[in-house]
Amino acid sequence: MEIAKVIVDVPVRSTDRPFDYLIPDSLKLWIEVGSRVAVPFGHRTVQGFVVSLESGETGTVSGMKPIQEVLDLLPPLSPELVELGDWMSQRYACRRISALQAMLPTALKGKAERLITLGDAADEGDSTADELFPMFLETDEEENRISEFVGRHGEVSMKLLTRTFPQAAETVKFMLRRGVLAESQSIKDKMGKKKLKAVDLAIGLSAARESLAGFPARSARQKEVLSFLIDMEAMLPMPMKDILSILQVTAGTVKALEDKGFIEISEIEVYRDPYRGRDFKPSTPLPLTKEQEAVYNRIAATVDEQRHEVFLLHGVTGSGKTEIYLQCIQRCVDQGRQAVVLVPEIALTPQMVERFKGRFGSGVAVMHSRLSVGERYDEWRKIREGKASVAVGARSAVFAPFMSLGLIIMDEEHESSYKQEENPKYHARDVAVRRAEQGGAAVILGSATPSLESYHAARSQSDIHFSPVLLHMPSRALGNELPKVHVTDMREELKEGNRSMFSRRLHTALESRLERGEQTVLLLNRRGFSTFVMCRSCGYVAGCPDCDISLTYHSRSDNLRCHYCGHAEPAPKLCPECGSEHIRFFGTGTQRVEEELGKLFPGIRVIRMDVDTTTEKGSHEKLLNQFRDKKADVLLGTQMVAKGLDFPDVTLVGVITADSALNLPDFRAAEKTFQLLTQVAGRAGRHQLPGEVVVQSYTPEHYSIVHASGHDYHSFVREELKHRRELHYPPYCRLILVTLSHEQLPVLLRLAENYALNLQGKARQLRWFGSLDKLSSDALDLLGPVASPLPRLKGRYRFQCIIKWRGSIDAIGLAREVAEELEDSVRDTGLQISLDVDPQMLM
Ligand code: ADP
Ligand code: ZN
Ligand code: ZN
Repeated sequence: MEIAKVIVDVPVRSTDRPFDYLIPDSLKLWIEVGSRVAVPFGHRTVQGFVVSLESGETGTVSGMKPIQEVLDLLPPLSPELVELGDWMSQRYACRRISALQAMLPTALKGKAERLITLGDAADEGDSTADELFPMFLETDEEENRISEFVGRHGEVSMKLLTRTFPQAAETVKFMLRRGVLAESQSIKDKMGKKKLKAVDLAIGLSAARESLAGFPARSARQKEVLSFLIDMEAMLPMPMKDILSILQVTAGTVKALEDKGFIEISEIEVYRDPYRGRDFKPSTPLPLTKEQEAVYNRIAATVDEQRHEVFLLHGVTGSGKTEIYLQCIQRCVDQGRQAVVLVPEIALTPQMVERFKGRFGSGVAVMHSRLSVGERYDEWRKIREGKASVAVGARSAVFAPFMSLGLIIMDEEHESSYKQEENPKYHARDVAVRRAEQGGAAVILGSATPSLESYHAARSQSDIHFSPVLLHMPSRALGNELPKVHVTDMREELKEGNRSMFSRRLHTALESRLERGEQTVLLLNRRGFSTFVMCRSCGYVAGCPDCDISLTYHSRSDNLRCHYCGHAEPAPKLCPECGSEHIRFFGTGTQRVEEELGKLFPGIRVIRMDVDTTTEKGSHEKLLNQFRDKKADVLLGTQMVAKGLDFPDVTLVGVITADSALNLPDFRAAEKTFQLLTQVAGRAGRHQLPGEVVVQSYTPEHYSIVHASGHDYHSFVREELKHRRELHYPPYCRLILVTLSHEQLPVLLRLAENYALNLQGKARQLRWFGSLDKLSSDALDLLGPVASPLPRLKGRYRFQCIIKWRGSIDAIGLAREVAEELEDSVRDTGLQISLDVDPQMLM
């Protein structure tokens, strides 16, 4: 007997292990490691994934339940991905099912559905039932209508049945009880494949030609369709709707031809192409510069040997990293292997996509969250069915179901968006390295400002994650200089009487751009700011009733919203505390900058790009196109404008508040500021015209600002690493953030204390607990418990501990074990513990 081990989709910890199911003979051919199946679990049918196959003794299988259905023609996961899921569950202390689910498009997150058919008792007539339950006699008519409806459809979902007969819940229940109706369960996907009616000839070409003569005059339209199909023979099968619109005939006409046996109408599957109807400028490989060539040759050697190796490509903005990516992909694809390109979500602009589609055409699948569920599913299927060999996408594209992956590229590898903040809390960089290790693939981590973790790993060659080979590109590919950066001290501006948000230097620079007809990018570093509502009379700030954080003002809808729980309320006209009218929204929002620009430079054309103006699908692209077509003088925005944009006429970049994020309680604050400034400065002067950058700051002496303005990555890193080492932060140790939450504060306090004590006790027993001062040894230390930076969220209080550790000890396993023990000991009290391994945010 064949047995499948299945990880089931049941969201509790006790089911986070494989369960055994029998493989019925009828399904044997279809079940592989990675298959998605429907299995009975308790009284329900749930979705699951086959993680291994075994043969079982006849004795042991008695009582074992069989697999009910196989849900896909091709298993959606490969054995390699199944194994990767296993690794993830240990590495990130998450459940295996959530790791596996994270690899699939939303469309495949199937849910059980109740299906109704006619039951065995349906034909017996209702005489017995009538005798037994005379009080139900009057429902006969309704029963008949329901039976007829179900009989006609063969199988009806419970949902459809209740929608069609909204008043009949009792009746249906009664019919089920008597066996007149029967119920079963199946797994239904959120989104099906898209089908299209297509028309083909049903007879040979010459036979079709001959038959044209036989059409009577009244069937002229039919004859027209047939002769059209004969002419278009090379294009068949052809979508029905094209025929209808080209020939202006009705579906009835086409149908009549089918009835006569001349043609065949069938359903074909089509891919929803998010880039349909768009032409991508074909691009050919550029001859490489000397610097590029050295880097390319080094990587190509590894790709040729189909060997696993990780490269950290440190290249300044404009050094031509993308051309390296493109040529390495070509090399990989030429060997019949596939490549994944990871790009931060906000850098995944049409401009970026075009660079890949232009080179590899329809062999490129694009995966990102702005696509619809259906589009994402179809792009995913293109990969799974072998119709694409390059995937470009955000974080989750690291799971692209390629069968012979040869190269993974991660552009802007330092970006924090590569870390998923919900479960499973994985970092795509680590997953990429692991996946490449499995299949002998190369990895390129590219950045102008590599993360300290990656850089340190490359330099010291001793890191726990991986040891990349460091490659350098210090000059721009087009030979132009990096732009000159001026830092203006905003405290001085104020002292000298300038109360505007623009320094005199930025003001003058903007003015001259307007005169010369050149373009400007203005960045508002909004991290750490939000537009909140405050009363100027009494100081009242509108806060979320459940989360203890201030609500954010949304001008479009004129309401206040909580960004954590979604709570929304209308913006107040009067202060709810003191009744004053002087209540308004604060914060250096992009809107305020826009207003100020309008006052200072009448007639200035500004395109504002922020969360408010880019929520609609395609709006991001529309705004960028307008800017490229020079329909505006200034592109003003948040982080969105800093990434990957390449406009020839941008000669000025202004940063309105460089240091707004420096005071956040985040040990990466300096690193993030340095990265952002370097990125945005790189948008200026990328082509013929030289560029200039003005950075406004209240702390211009801060090393992140000093070194960013000198384009000096190495000095920045030296100084930042010194701080990290002194304070025991990554890359000199690793972190685990443990967040405990509960509705009652006193209970939570006690449990958080317990967690910390238990963990310390165990670590002591294992002789792990100790100081991190000695850099060489295994060590574990614990901070907290303290209230989380967001002390209350969705009505739950939150406390956190931070575990710092180093060396080869299993700190992740320990943190998880202690959490599970605590959860088990206090069952039902509503305690939640979440672990974040290598957190990006400590909030
Ligand atoms: P990065 O990604 O490193 O910031 P890009 O890949 O965007 O840099 O390249 C910057 C510019 O240089 C682009 O306009 C690109 O077309 C151009 N470029 C890159 N490599 C070459 C080359 N070998 N020859 C000519 N132009 C190049
Ligand atoms: Zn007030
Ligand atoms: Zn809230």
